[in-house]
This record gives sequence, C-alpha cells and structure tokens, in this order.
Amino acid sequence: MTVAAPAARAAGPGRRQAVATAHELRRSYAVRRGVFAPPARLHAVGGISFALAAGRTLAVVGESGCGKSTLGRVVALLELPTGGALDLGGVDATRATPAQQRALRKSVQMVFQNPYGSLNPRQKIGAILEAPLAINTALDPAARSARARAMLAKVGLRPEHYGRYPHMFSGGQRQRIAIARALMVEPALVVADEPVSALDVSVQAQVLNLLADLQHDLEVAYLFISHDLAVVRYLAHDVLVMYLGLAMEQGPKQAIFGQPLHPYTRALLAATPTLDGPRRERIVLAGELPSPLMPPAGCVFSTRCPHAIGRCRAERPAPRPVAGREVACHLAENFLDSSG
Ligand code: SF4
Repeated sequence: MTVAAPAARAAGPGRRQAVATAHELRRSYAVRRGVFAPPARLHAVGGISFALAAGRTLAVVGESGCGKSTLGRVVALLELPTGGALDLGGVDATRATPAQQRALRKSVQMVFQNPYGSLNPRQKIGAILEAPLAINTALDPAARSARARAMLAKVGLRPEHYGRYPHMFSGGQRQRIAIARALMVEPALVVADEPVSALDVSVQAQVLNLLADLQHDLEVAYLFISHDLAVVRYLAHDVLVMYLGLAMEQGPKQAIFGQPLHPYTRALLAATPTLDGPRRERIVLAGELPSPLMPPAGCVFSTRCPHAIGRCRAERPAPRPVAGREVACHLAENFLDSSG
C-alpha cells in the first residue's frame, strides 16, 4: 500500500529504499476495572504514521507512558497491532503468512534499555552472538563463529571477548554486545528502546558514536526510542513527538529542533539543556500526564497546555503540514516567528 506519511517526505522517497512504513498504526488493550464494570480500552498507540528509509533514524520521543515503547514493540513484531497497517520491506506485517513472519522477524531486531538483563548470564559471548544465526540461517558452526568474531571487531570489542561471560563486561561493553547480537542477522531495521539511558554519560557518547558508525557502514535503519532530547539531537534524522499515544509533531530534526511548533515539543525542548542551540525560555508543564484510559476531550494536551483556548477542548486537532513538518495543534502558526 502507498502511505503518505510525514517522515516519508522528510526522508526523501526515491533516494533510499523504505524499510518500514506505518499507516494509522494502533495498539490497544482491554483493561478490567473491577468485577462488575465492563472492560475499558486503553489506546497505547492511537494511530501513528511514519515511513523510515534505509540508513535513516526516526527518533520517537515523549514522556514515560506516551506509548513510544509500545510502538517500538509493535514495529519489532513483539506485539501485533490492533489497527492500521505496517509494511516491512514491502510485506504487510499485519497479513503476513507464518513463513513471511519468520522472515520479517529476522529483518527487524531490537536493542533494549538494560544491557544487564538482555544477555543470558550463563552463555559465553560467542554463543550469544551465534544463536540468531543458528535459528535464522543455514550457516555451519565454523561460519557462525567467523561471523561472530567479525561482528565483535565491528562493535569495538577484542577477539578474546568471544569466550567470556556477560558479567565480565562493563555496561557499555554489554550494550555493544547487545547491538552486535541485533546486527548478526543483517536486519534492515533495528528498534532501539532507550539503548543508552542506563549508561554513564561518557559511555553514552561512545555507544551513540558506535550506532552512527554502524548505520553509516551497514545502511541499517533505526527506530530510536528515547526520552532524552540531547541524545535524539545527536542521532536522529527525523523526529516523532508522542503524547498519550498520538503524534503531536513529526518531521525533520532540523525543523523540530530549530523551531518547534507544538506547545508540547516546545516544553520538552525548553527542559533540555543545550550548549550550541538557542537559549529557550523555560516552560513548566502543569499537572500529570492524564490516564490513557480517560484522555481529555478535544486536544489530548489541552489539560497541560499553557495556550489552550475553547476550541482546543472541543475539537481534536488532526496532524497537518506547517513549515516542513506535521503538527497536531490548532495554533501552530502562532509559534512560527518565535524562537521556541
Ligand atoms: Fe495547546 Fe490547543 Fe495546540 Fe492543543 S491544540 S497543543 S491545547 S494550543
């Protein structure tokens, strides 16, 4: 299917092959609220569209509970969507046959936040790296071992690390191993969910550099999930800002960081220290993130937005193009000439 998603335009269709395209992707859950009450529906992802091309990074940002990790799990096929369409490498993942699903699972790999918990402590690194090859390829043990040793070098580890256990490594080294494992089957897309947030700041920079170098070498695409806009600024090509399962603002990094137009993006950026960008007036968000079981009527951000007007509480703004990105705000034009 053809999907005119904002990020597709940003990525420059035609120049690079699309590896993932989502159209109105949804994931909801039935939630019991008591013995006699009927179950409610929690819309964790409420209709997200994007297109991600080879060699590009789409960063998904937002507060904890905004649905970004659920979106990542759906794109990585760890959960099935409950609506919309997800095209992975030209195959509709929502209608794939079992054989197609096996191939798709190989083409999309995941890197998790916690490098301590994502590696089997009883397996040596060589075995951890070779396991995906044993499952997904017909390579013999010698070829699997050669591929694992080559990947160790690619992620900056030494040959002797092949025979060591995960507990013998630092946090940054373990995340390098997790990245190596994800890349062993040569995926087109890696979904990285907060991959550096558990690491020290100095180690974060090393792992981010590694991710950038690997992308340059391998043309792999990243769906990069993070709450940290400083990290996103470094790695992303395009940015998707989520709130209560919906896209608030979406487009090229330069547009969003240079002149944020959605009040939620502006508040997130105002809370992010920057050395090189313009100084931003601090914007304090009032209140807590509303429950996704009872999202506000009209604009879902209206209960915390300092600019909300009557229309905002009555009419939900649909994403629309403004100044080179898509914004879901009735008043986006009001922020065009402001420095953010
Ligand atoms: Fe704020 Fe209204 Fe824009 Fe929503 S639509 S972000 S409430 S100004």
